[in-house]
Amino acid sequence: MRPSERLNAIPPYLFAELERKIAQKRAEGVDVISLGIGDPDRPTPPLVVEAMQEAVTEPETHTYPTNRGRADFRGAISDFYERRFDVEIDPEREVIPAIGAKEAIFNLNLAFLDVGDAALASDPGYPVYTTGPLLVGAEPILMPLLPKLGFTPDLRAISAQARRRAKLMYLNYPNNPTGAIAPPGFFERVVEFARAHDILVVHDNSYSEIAYDGYRAPSFLATPGAKDVGIEVFSLSKGYNMTGWRCAAVLGNAEAIELYWRLKTNIDSGLFEAVQLAAIAALSPDADAEVASMRELYRIRRDLVCSALKQAGVQVKPPRGTIYVWAPVPEGFGSSVAYCEHVLEHAAVVISPGSAYGPSGEGWFRISLTTPDERLQEAVRRIAAL
Ligand SMILES: *Cc1c(COP(=O)(O)O)cnc(C)c1O
Repeated sequence: MRPSERLNAIPPYLFAELERKIAQKRAEGVDVISLGIGDPDRPTPPLVVEAMQEAVTEPETHTYPTNRGRADFRGAISDFYERRFDVEIDPEREVIPAIGAKEAIFNLNLAFLDVGDAALASDPGYPVYTTGPLLVGAEPILMPLLPKLGFTPDLRAISAQARRRAKLMYLNYPNNPTGAIAPPGFFERVVEFARAHDILVVHDNSYSEIAYDGYRAPSFLATPGAKDVGIEVFSLSKGYNMTGWRCAAVLGNAEAIELYWRLKTNIDSGLFEAVQLAAIAALSPDADAEVASMRELYRIRRDLVCSALKQAGVQVKPPRGTIYVWAPVPEGFGSSVAYCEHVLEHAAVVISPGSAYGPSGEGWFRISLTTPDERLQEAVRRIAAL
């Protein structure tokens, strides 16, 4: 078998050893608790499930959808952006459905990058920001997220060569894995930078609906001038407990949306219309209470985890958003992977090494809050007792 050069360019999977150890422990009958994956444990809200049940009984939903998406789906996204973010979206030209944010982010590389081009990618960051460019023969250029800048990149530190070569920039706030929110003025500086260097900003908005302590995360598109230089990928996966449904949308710059649509007509055949109808229910004000109760559930879990970590001597700052707690590896453990292996070995708890998300994640670890309360409680009790 001869895989493509592109596939060979993907770095080897660094956590094979960690996964082997997890499998071995489980096989030995050890009660391993995983706080590794960010996949909501709670079911999709009933009103969304009911909308889906009704929609699948309609034969009109059974045919190929158009890649442009249903007019009522685009209208619902546009209404939601107005209501939630105070952002005006033209439902005809400025929004298109996507089969999940992951699909959208990967395919945007195909739409905008040629071999030898580059994309600026947050480090640490969602892995597709780097594997996506590599798979299309382009190069990811890492932008370290600096703790002292609230886990944002120092735009001034991006080299002249990188500014010239980069055609895309991947950002994500509230941020996975750091839990950071966009500090005041940051998005404005991004718009200015993107305009000066003709870079298309791709803001991954997977977590706007999960924020704490009264904070309401903005859309990047609410920044003046953002629509001139960028697009936003809005996913229903995390905020609405819909990871398995594959439902997202790309919004913003009309020309970029048109190009993405042109690409998509050659790749997939659109988002199942019943899922689009279910998304309309999710984005309606009727679902607001469901989302608010999820926020409260995660807030309680966040506080539980942070107080246990503090007791264990870990210098943790409670995140203002996302479903993750990001904390520094305690003194004396060496690398992130070594610490995570230690926690697995002695507490039988799986946590993610920060280096899984990029070199700047070294020295940190991530705990996902998507585990039922009693199990999470048991896991942090074991970590605190280490
Ligand atoms: C979970 C996650 C995604 C994936 O979203 P889907 O819509 O399920 O593909 C994308 N970006 C970030 C930052 C995520 O954490």
